[in-house]
Amino acid sequence: MIRTEAPAKVNLSLRVAAVDRSGFHRLHSHVQMVDWHDYLAIEWWEEDLLEVVGLPTPTEGSVDLPTGKDNLVWKSAAAFWVDDPGKRRPVRVTLEKHIPVAAGLAGGSADAAAMAVGLAALTGRPVDLARLVEVGSDIAFSLSGGSALMEGYGEVLSPVPASDDFALVLAVPPIELSTPAVYQRWDDLDGPAGVALPGRSVPPSLRGLEVINDLYPAAVSIAPDLADHRSQLMAAWSRPVAMSGSGPTLFAFFADLEEATEAASVVSGMRAIRATIPVDHGARVRPQERDYNDPVRQ
Ligand code: ATP
Repeated sequence: MIRTEAPAKVNLSLRVAAVDRSGFHRLHSHVQMVDWHDYLAIEWWEEDLLEVVGLPTPTEGSVDLPTGKDNLVWKSAAAFWVDDPGKRRPVRVTLEKHIPVAAGLAGGSADAAAMAVGLAALTGRPVDLARLVEVGSDIAFSLSGGSALMEGYGEVLSPVPASDDFALVLAVPPIELSTPAVYQRWDDLDGPAGVALPGRSVPPSLRGLEVINDLYPAAVSIAPDLADHRSQLMAAWSRPVAMSGSGPTLFAFFADLEEATEAASVVSGMRAIRATIPVDHGARVRPQERDYNDPVRQ
């Protein structure tokens, strides 16, 4: 059995370009992995089997997480074996789901990346990134992780310096937003621009970064309650609040994890809430597994 983990992604900034001839939007986004993980355990089995544990929480219950072949872990497995389907062997996957679903945190891409990393570890075959990116636009970053500038349609990544001078609170309001629906609304609204957070509220390591999300006006147009949740958080925390991805996850910067944990504790009524810090990795074999297998330690 191999155990893998995959962190959630936050778009600290997200600029969107008008839809192009491919029918997609080019992006310019500063993305950051954070310490909020899904965990996978993968083992050879007689037939493909997926068991999901963790979510749904009571408030998460209405969110649609497919447990059959539509789950992105199976799309990842199909991509992994596409050039050699005869060699494919069935696996049992236990998905310990913590990253809220359809929240703008790329949990599905995280799981797909963690599945590919696990299959690579089980088989010794490398992950074929070109195949895998077809499974989800955030997959390239879900694999590489850390801090990056994401461009193109999400597949062009350039590293940016890591940040360790802030914590975040991620608050997921009880709203479901589908990524394609938010982009469609953004098109229908003629591509509005977001409003940047004041520069003084941005941590020193990110100075110069415009913390802005062009999809926010479209998300609010679909779910007006999102603006109320944001106002409530800004009042509770006395600071500006931004949105990640296509929403509805909202976030704010805090000096450290202690301050963020305190801020998270005063908020209620969210689908999920988490005080967290940046991490410097993407989907990977769980470190304790690596330690266990480390010949130097045996
Ligand atoms: P995106 O990466 O498109 O911005 P998101 O981060 O908002 O999406 P995800 O949690 O990745 O949201 O889920 C997007 C959709 O993918 C869900 O509505 C769900 O139906 C589907 N899905 C399939 N497999 C998974 C999975 N393993 N985890 C989460 N969602 C999944």
